[in-house]
Amino acid sequence: MAETFTFQAEIQQLLDILVHSLYTEREIFLRELISNASDALSRIQFEQLTNRDILDPDAELAIEIKADESAGTLTISDTGIGMTHDELVNNLGVIARSGAKAFLEKLRESSGSGAVLQDVIGQFGVGFYSVFMVADKVRVVSRSYQPGEQAYAWESTGGATYTIEPAEREVRGTDVIIHLKEDAKTFLQPWTLKDIIRRHSDYIAFPIYVGDDEQPANKQTAIWRQDPKDITEEQYNDFYKMLTLDWEAPLHHLHVRADVPLQFYALLYIPSSPERSLLSPRKEPGLKLYARKVLIQDYNTDLLPEYLQFVQGVVDSEDLPLNVSRESVQTNRVMVNLKKTLTGRVLADLKRLAQKNRDSYLKIYAAFSRFIKQGVVVSPVDRTDIEPLLFFASTRSETPEQLFSLDEYVERLAANQDDIYYVMADDFYTASRSPHLDAFRARGIEVLYLTDPVDSFMVMGLPDYKGHKLRSVDDANIDLRDIGEAREDEAAPARENLPEDSFNALRQRFADVLGERVRDVRQSKTLTRSPARLVSDDENAARNMFRLNRLLDREVELPIKSLELNPHHPLMYNLSAMLAASPGSPLVNLVIEQVFETALLQDGIHPDPAAMADRLTLLMQAATGTPAAELDIADAPPSPPAAPDDENA
Ligand code: ADP
Repeated sequence: MAETFTFQAEIQQLLDILVHSLYTEREIFLRELISNASDALSRIQFEQLTNRDILDPDAELAIEIKADESAGTLTISDTGIGMTHDELVNNLGVIARSGAKAFLEKLRESSGSGAVLQDVIGQFGVGFYSVFMVADKVRVVSRSYQPGEQAYAWESTGGATYTIEPAEREVRGTDVIIHLKEDAKTFLQPWTLKDIIRRHSDYIAFPIYVGDDEQPANKQTAIWRQDPKDITEEQYNDFYKMLTLDWEAPLHHLHVRADVPLQFYALLYIPSSPERSLLSPRKEPGLKLYARKVLIQDYNTDLLPEYLQFVQGVVDSEDLPLNVSRESVQTNRVMVNLKKTLTGRVLADLKRLAQKNRDSYLKIYAAFSRFIKQGVVVSPVDRTDIEPLLFFASTRSETPEQLFSLDEYVERLAANQDDIYYVMADDFYTASRSPHLDAFRARGIEVLYLTDPVDSFMVMGLPDYKGHKLRSVDDANIDLRDIGEAREDEAAPARENLPEDSFNALRQRFADVLGERVRDVRQSKTLTRSPARLVSDDENAARNMFRLNRLLDREVELPIKSLELNPHHPLMYNLSAMLAASPGSPLVNLVIEQVFETALLQDGIHPDPAAMADRLTLLMQAATGTPAAELDIADAPPSPPAAPDDENA
């Protein structure tokens, strides 16, 4: 007696689209079914290593494709793991795979337009169900490898329901019997089938026999075991898309065939983007691990360090014992060496790319620099290998995209310059306008722009490069007097400094108004064009963590810094005069608050820039004629809170 089941709603939608599709490249159904058969064979191969209780242990691991012209059917058979009654229901009646769901989303968005359908089907494998592009009816007869299980047949015409009934099958495995649609009869031709297999499934590791041929139709060499010379860019990309279900081609691939000290093959890819969600439905990071062509693990995360987990691909080791189980693989000694070797290869390859083909490298860097930079801190042993991979914009960049390596920076050190200087800011333009740069520009000293929030984390692992200390330009102890050469026009102050007692009065008012929000207020020796800047007196790298913590949505405390005032800036002149003439004017304090917050903003550490709007409006009112006494100061917003005094903590 056949039981009738209803497909999950998503599958009904998917079937409806596939049954009625006019998709011209529907030949991919064959690739999908062969891939399923191959997976089933890999899994039985693995079971054979660890489990003695298997039906038909001696059956050849192979895929057979037979066409029956008179019946109009095409049958794809394998001696794989097979399916029990319940597995037929769960695997062919319910969508588990995120790919298929993403596929439906995409189709819904495109509301079925023909061209998009082409794209979408082509890019996403839609697995087993793609068979309904060519089939009126499909019958799947399967027998599980577990002794004592009997065979069942699953059958559907692509409507809302399917049936399951007991069936006959002598050996373990699965037959997919396709009743071809009238317009799909071309798939009965052996040469058509062989051509499709050669183009899409050549590297499948198990033999694929077509008709009564004794020779398999596929080469059976896993792509990663082939000579790179024989593989086209397109084949590399195809394999990547199949492996990751990513729509986009990868940014880069690395094909390794190593003999000593370890013998292994690896085909690694750098994906098109770090996003995994829709574009790359592979759920977890990790590499596909084979031991002598036998699939051991789909997602192995022990082969690369965590900061390189964005790399996708396949590793096939000749040294791992075949009886390694999924549980014991992690602790196997070979794995430790594999990881070391692979990490070295990946970093060396990226370095080579960075040096030989910078444009390609910078595309990778644009997508994955955050991962690479983390490596500096989390994996100190790799630091010297990662350093050549680091690139930054600088005061020499004409656009945010123009990046320089640390070596390039070091080659350009100014006379007597030992240290490498960097400025932290929210973005390229903020960095380039930083008040800290006044003094460096005045002496022709290059400064790197560290504009990614993870940069503040990275510098903790990068105290120096090739003996040159990395120093933040807001370091109060930097003395540039003997470095570079003073450029006359820029170095000469626009006017004299304020007289000492006027400056001191002004300095005192700043200190009173800002209170604990600053450590100290003092005269700047370096500022030329900017009225003020915030400097750090301590060498504590933790002061840089503010940006990172904010990115991570952590509770953030504003670092307490010292405020340096430019004693010859026109604003300080005006303010000093106002302070002398009308010390009680509310404008004096308003301006002081704003000078402080502008400095926070310029360093990219203002906790709430929008809160300045009310004060700025008051200042503009004053600038356009409202007398100070009439300003509604009470409405001015509170300044950012002072951080708790950490010195007593
Ligand atoms: P996917 O292969 O991506 O998981 P499919 O829709 O192609 O998605 O297949 C669904 C599931 O059906 C597979 O995951 C597998 O468990 C099972 N399956 C399909 N074909 C076979 C087969 N030939 N032998 C054993 N199981 C199969």
